[in-house]
Amino acid sequence: MKKILMHVCCAPCFVMIEEDIQKNGMNINGKREQVDLTAFWYNPNIHPQEENKLRLEAFKKLCGEDNIKSVIIDECEMKEFTNITQNEVGTNKRYKLRCEYCYYLRLEKTFEYAKENGYDIVSTSLTRSPYQNHELINKIAQILSKKYGVEYSYQDYRHTYFEGQQRARERGLYMQKYCGCIFSSVESLLQKKLSKYLKRMNIKPSTKVIQDIIEDYKKENNGTVNIEKIVNDYKEKSTNI
Ligand code: SF4
Repeated sequence: MKKILMHVCCAPCFVMIEEDIQKNGMNINGKREQVDLTAFWYNPNIHPQEENKLRLEAFKKLCGEDNIKSVIIDECEMKEFTNITQNEVGTNKRYKLRCEYCYYLRLEKTFEYAKENGYDIVSTSLTRSPYQNHELINKIAQILSKKYGVEYSYQDYRHTYFEGQQRARERGLYMQKYCGCIFSSVESLLQKKLSKYLKRMNIKPSTKVIQDIIEDYKKENNGTVNIEKIVNDYKEKSTNI
């Protein structure tokens, strides 16, 4: 039976994956087979500490209730994470995107651990979310797979996204409101503020429209986000229309 080390980004993403694997085996190269699964926690991107604690507790609860072996490396690298994203992310820099660095950081630790501890395959629950960049995750995982000589298995669980959210609620797991890093927490706050403001103006844009507004804003402002400024700019723009 193959030994799988699965990086787990959060319990709500993992719940449908692990329930499916325990029941039906894991899809490896198009064939379902029973596997020896270990869940691996390493998410130093999560901010702040209290949020990390809540997500980690949910992971422990799920693994405990479903008898899943787990490995936990609980590090909070907010300072380093922010410094690197400020200094090494951008055009002509080491990483093009913030999430690229974030995927690299988490997956590299997973491959490293898998190599040192004799696992056959590495996978990640990140690819359950339709909001993550699957192409980039797979590209990074393939590079790391070559570097560490451990196979990577892409598990596309996007079709279970909404059902998975429901399942996580039923199982009483903590449901986070943003992806994880400080930037995503600010963006989520920004989205809320912006939709609140637009609602007051009787405009009801979809989440996608709000995300696009924020993305455009970031492009025009060298990637920096200032909640008050964006709302004020939007106010000005909309009164000029
Ligand atoms: S948005 Fe999510 S994947 Fe991207 S850097 Fe932040 S925590 Fe990582």
